Amino acid sequence: MNNSKTRSCPACNYPLNEIDFKLGEKILDSVGTTRDWNLSVLSCEKCGSIFKTVHENVESFYENEYEIPFYDFEDDQVYKINTDNSVTYRTDFQSKLVKDFVKNSSSKIIDVLDFGCARAQTAAKLSTINELNLYGYDISKVHYDTWKHSAPRVSFFGPDQLSIYYQKFDLVYSFFALEHAFELSAPLEQIKLLLKDKGSLIVALPNSITNPADLLLCDHVNHFSSKGLMDLFHNKGFNIIKYSDSIYTGAHYIELNLDKSKESKYYKYNFESNNQLNSSYSLWKKDENALKSRLDNLEKNKFILIHGAGIYAKWILSILKNSNFNGKIKICDANPSLHGKELDSNIILSTKKIHDEYISYIDLICIATSPKVANEIQKEYKNKGYKNLFFGISDRSKILS
Ligand SMILES: [Zn+2]
Repeated sequence: MNNSKTRSCPACNYPLNEIDFKLGEKILDSVGTTRDWNLSVLSCEKCGSIFKTVHENVESFYENEYEIPFYDFEDDQVYKINTDNSVTYRTDFQSKLVKDFVKNSSSKIIDVLDFGCARAQTAAKLSTINELNLYGYDISKVHYDTWKHSAPRVSFFGPDQLSIYYQKFDLVYSFFALEHAFELSAPLEQIKLLLKDKGSLIVALPNSITNPADLLLCDHVNHFSSKGLMDLFHNKGFNIIKYSDSIYTGAHYIELNLDKSKESKYYKYNFESNNQLNSSYSLWKKDENALKSRLDNLEKNKFILIHGAGIYAKWILSILKNSNFNGKIKICDANPSLHGKELDSNIILSTKKIHDEYISYIDLICIATSPKVANEIQKEYKNKGYKNLFFGISDRSKILS
């Protein structure tokens, strides 16, 4: 348990300041469960990143409780619903990023490691490339049975076997793992030891500016600004080859290597101003108060629709539970693979069913999606004749401009 008052920024080493308000009584984790964890939220004035210090037994959380994703065993997390209603899953998109990197690399890539592989679905999808030797590393073995079944071509190892693989890999990739690491030095040092001298690293982790729900999650403890992320890798001795906040929607995407003969592109990027993440964080408090006052103003036995069944819906449900709301709740989502499944004992319906059967009964529509798409959804309801109240998450685009 670190003393938050003396913690310094993992990226730029500047002393961190505590942000003096808390979000909610209970806070969501990335699995979608609410927890009453005691957190300190800290911000770096120099690089604009936000970090959480968790005053709880996090080891036991990852050993016993951390299960991804939200719904059931077979589900992958949705990256995008396409215009023809087909679904692109995260691991489809991630395996394509790795495939493209391998194809375009000037040096031969053979040994590839998925660092923080969890269910190893991305590695499993790379198994079609026969030239690659695929490996997966994770601190937890809760997914051991999944690995054996779904990724037979991937060789797995845990922390006790790390040293066997030092200097082994041409490419390490790590998708959505480092945001969980309270002590970032350890995994980054491990990655350096695992890579060959000129080996490459691909990292994607949540961008809390373009994906503001990330700030809500108690087990996501690192919320880097793009500057903070580059400071971090630069200070740890990596060479920055590419950074993008648009290649992977809602994420920071960064390509790095250890080849000192190549030019680091760190200085070429325009960084955001330093208080964007702070502003975005404080908007969550504003949104929480706005939703509470909407609920207070509803009469008894009213009907709420939550449009969206992901993390934003979980957040809305957690506020509903802590309020005096005693009416009905319906939930709908555009993702057909969720229809018929449950979220907090509410069956997830299609948006068509809502429009056809329920729209005239609804008193408040809570749009539980990223603010970016919320406007379009609101328009659709208005076009179908819905005239009552809306609640949506505050738009962060003004913070960015
Ligand atoms: Zn910093």
